[in-house]
Amino acid sequence: MTGFQFARLKIEGPYPLRRGAWYRVTDETSETVVFDVNRRPVTVPRSLVELVGGPPRLWTIVPRPVNAVRVPAHWGWWYAVCPSCKHRSALNAAPQTMRCPRCKGVFRFAREESYLPGDWTPERIPDRSSQQGPERRADSGGPG
Ligand SMILES: [Zn+2]
Repeated sequence: MTGFQFARLKIEGPYPLRRGAWYRVTDETSETVVFDVNRRPVTVPRSLVELVGGPPRLWTIVPRPVNAVRVPAHWGWWYAVCPSCKHRSALNAAPQTMRCPRCKGVFRFAREESYLPGDWTPERIPDRSSQQGPERRADSGGPG
């Protein structure tokens, strides 16, 4: 083994895993993957996860869940999840890179991927780089 694998859920599921966040893989079989979630093992069917061979380096762009309760409405249709510390952050300015306010890491955005595409359709959300939030706030002053 040359290093740790990382994985994230690629579906909405009843698991204690944050949408878009990468977790270290501590064990795997042909059927399952075991995530390290706050030092506790969480076993998920392998078909539901996406695996990478090293530490992820891109912000995951996550479509706002329809029934989101922990995501502020003014964040708009999308938010970003830090690949390093799993911190959620607003995506107002759509820069090329963003510094995580929590772990201070600077990462690019994974714009090429569509994470959890089941949550949205291109018709509903035409442009993910110049988004307007559900409330169309005019006071977004860019990153703080
Ligand atoms: Zn971070």
